[in-house]
Amino acid sequence: MQNKTEAIQKAEQVLYKTYNRFPVIFDHGDGVHLYDSEGTEYLDFGAGIAVMGLGYNDPEYAEALTAQAGKLLHTSNLFYNQPAIDAGQKLLKASGMEKVFFTNSGTEAIEGALKIAKRHAFNRDGHGGHEIIAMKHSFHGRSLGALSVTGNDHYQEPFAPLLPGIRFAQFNNLNSVKELINEKTCAVLMETIQGEGGIYPATDEFIKGVRELCDKHGMLLILDEIQCGMGRSGYMFAWQKYGVKPDVMTVAKALGNGVPIGAFLAQREAAVAMRPGDHGTTYGGNPFVCAAADKVLELFEKRNITAHVTEIGSYLWEKLDQFVKDHACAVDHRGAGLMQGVEFDRPVGEIVKKALLENQLVLISAGSNVIRFVPPLVISREDVDLMLEKLENSL
Ligand SMILES: *Cc1c(COP(=O)(O)O)cnc(C)c1O
Repeated sequence: MQNKTEAIQKAEQVLYKTYNRFPVIFDHGDGVHLYDSEGTEYLDFGAGIAVMGLGYNDPEYAEALTAQAGKLLHTSNLFYNQPAIDAGQKLLKASGMEKVFFTNSGTEAIEGALKIAKRHAFNRDGHGGHEIIAMKHSFHGRSLGALSVTGNDHYQEPFAPLLPGIRFAQFNNLNSVKELINEKTCAVLMETIQGEGGIYPATDEFIKGVRELCDKHGMLLILDEIQCGMGRSGYMFAWQKYGVKPDVMTVAKALGNGVPIGAFLAQREAAVAMRPGDHGTTYGGNPFVCAAADKVLELFEKRNITAHVTEIGSYLWEKLDQFVKDHACAVDHRGAGLMQGVEFDRPVGEIVKKALLENQLVLISAGSNVIRFVPPLVISREDVDLMLEKLENSL
């Protein structure tokens, strides 16, 4: 292997620069630990942005991938494949939804959900031109459609004009949603727990209120569970805590535990709104990625991951609460399960950098002032204790 400095220089020559990366090259992982190219061990509280739910190098998961790699990787959606049927069944069972479409990413799951909303309204009204309500400070992805519903001017501005007919309400402010509804509105889209925007869970009142508004005005409720879903909140899907159910939901990130797979799921009218020819993907739902998702879903159930998340999540909650009490620079603490955020009175970039480079702790931020704690879901109390020690040392 090239030495690290050379490798990083080479990377900067080769890779399109849309990221400012940290000067670390990870080489392998095990459980909740990552190891860099020089063999240094890191404690990981980022999980590759909430992806590695089962942690690194899980033997049962790796075995399933190897077996499928030696059997069949891809056939296209012109044919059926068994792993997609198996993974689909498990996902429907876990969510209570009726139909699933597999995508290659979270962004594409959002694209599909938006198309369902438009198609559903078109079927009903016989014409297009419908509007969608999304939330300020949301994040749904970087493609032009997903960017259009991402409530962040900074991300949107250079790429305007985006999709017309998108209106932004204030998350957790029911009146702000009400005020935007008109006869053209066909759907409301939101994250159940806002992730990139700073770890804001929907309030009970808000999500129930939005569900009622959707029922009353014939709008679809689309919940983005790409980050907060797959056990991270202590529930398989974060909306299950509230006793509401979406018409359409999106999943990705932890669904594949590292292989690129997402999905959109739908129920009732939304489950039959799109018809043959309306949507497609070459890779989406291929046997390889579906074998991965199928194994992830099997292991989640077998190991009762949600119960573990609830237990360790409340331990992390106590510890971070204490942390906020002990430090004047920490001003708020929010989240659920193993998706928690601590807000500081200043940008957290320096803390995150110091944690990584001086204390071998992988942390990620959410927005500029929030540190987001989204570790692999298999962490232990000892890992939480060690993380806090490293965090203290990074201040
Ligand atoms: C990460 C994320 C996305 C986009 O998913 P990609 O797999 O990066 O395309 C969409 N919505 C939410 C809530 C996310 O956290």
